[in-house]
Amino acid sequence: MPVTSEKIVSLQPDRPLLVRHLEDYVDGAQGPLALLVVQIRRGREFGTLFGFRKLEDVVQQIAERLGRACRHSDRILRIGEYEYALILPGLINEGHAVLAANKILRTLAEPMVIDKQRVSMGACIGVALCPDHAKLAEPLLHCAELARAEAERRGMAYAIYNESASTELASHWGIENELDQALEGGELETFYQAKISLEDGRLTGAETLVRWRSPTRGLVPPDKFIPVAMQSGQISALTWSVLNMALQQAGDWPTRFGPLPVSVNIAPTLLDDPNLVSRVADAMNVWGVRSNRLILEITESGIMRDPEQSFATLRRLTDTGALISIDDFGTGYSSLANFRNMPVSELKIDKGFVIDMLKNQGDEKIVRVIVDLAHTFRLSVVAEGVENQGILKALAGMQCDCAQGYYISKPLPADEFVKFIQDYRPPAM
Ligand code: C2E
Ligand code: CA
Ligand code: CA
Repeated sequence: MPVTSEKIVSLQPDRPLLVRHLEDYVDGAQGPLALLVVQIRRGREFGTLFGFRKLEDVVQQIAERLGRACRHSDRILRIGEYEYALILPGLINEGHAVLAANKILRTLAEPMVIDKQRVSMGACIGVALCPDHAKLAEPLLHCAELARAEAERRGMAYAIYNESASTELASHWGIENELDQALEGGELETFYQAKISLEDGRLTGAETLVRWRSPTRGLVPPDKFIPVAMQSGQISALTWSVLNMALQQAGDWPTRFGPLPVSVNIAPTLLDDPNLVSRVADAMNVWGVRSNRLILEITESGIMRDPEQSFATLRRLTDTGALISIDDFGTGYSSLANFRNMPVSELKIDKGFVIDMLKNQGDEKIVRVIVDLAHTFRLSVVAEGVENQGILKALAGMQCDCAQGYYISKPLPADEFVKFIQDYRPPAM
């Protein structure tokens, strides 16, 4: 039975709507409230196993359960694919919020029936209180999201916003300021990680992975500063810098295996940049890059935010001679219909499915499904996160085309990667 209750404000993922809604509460000074951000665990696996249509079903079922756990005055909004926000007015202290979080966890813990199969999904909740933790809408949401991330990191079902989460917030600001200096001062470096053929072990290319060699912080991994750059808008300058370094350096690679294509990560937000296509075309011209030698990796979730619009941009990108690869595939809910005319040549299976595929049957099935799907649509498929020989062999047995991972090579600085190409011997398969 569909939920018609006024408790449910929106089931379309809409974060700005939540902020506007929260503003009404905090501006009107309607007394204290708790904001809960509820992330459904294993959500992406359901997307992959049951497909896009069933996602709607799951969204509906979850909303109904949340609705039953909430009071009349509470409000529920969906803010991400598998993320909901709950506004709970009148909750004064942490004790009340903990009771509410536990109630929600209990209702979500019961197995659901999807496609006649019983599946269980847990949740991970972040709690922030107004006015204790923040008095305005955006900061309050940020506190709840930090708490949610903290809960996930510590493997807990819920967490309440606290000081250590706020320290992280401060470090976020510090990084943003220093990143300007890093971009201007040439502190960003490109590392390269090999991709090999699972047919004969030969090198087939490499992925560019950026690092920040900071005078104060040491070698900073991208997970620490890419998300900051995406929020601040610095991602644009960062990407052009990485793209140019990659094309220049790849031009000097030894040609033992022919001219190797280089892959560069493109943040999904750049799909909205009107200069994206001309920037890529210019960089290819400057470095004399031929067709099919540059691969642009864009995450599936980024593309699927607005498939029609994304495909139009991707099509114009392929006119430059660049190839498109869908990164982190399996986590973004492509529907089969999207595959009909997707201007893409490669799928990269998210390493989250590959790393444990020998231990986890569900992961193994997902990898197999993605390989078959790619081949049905004549796309090449790359598995990343190949950490041992067993995984390499299993992937070769599934006819997966290419592999990337620590078993073959870690990401290497530019000069070491040149040596790697010179000395490369295919691994035992
Ligand atoms: P990604 O594009 O999915 O890159 C693959 C990540 O998996 C890399 O982490 C790589 O070092 C790691 N990896 C490769 N093989 C294995 C393995 O066998 N086991 C494990 N556990 N991990 C493996 P890295 O370099 O830390 O990059 C993390 C993420 O940062 C990338 O994920 C990408 O989303 C982002 N990133 C890196 N460079 C850039 C860039 O130039 N631009 C943008 N927009 N994003 C970037
Ligand atoms: Ca990538
Ligand atoms: Ca990836």
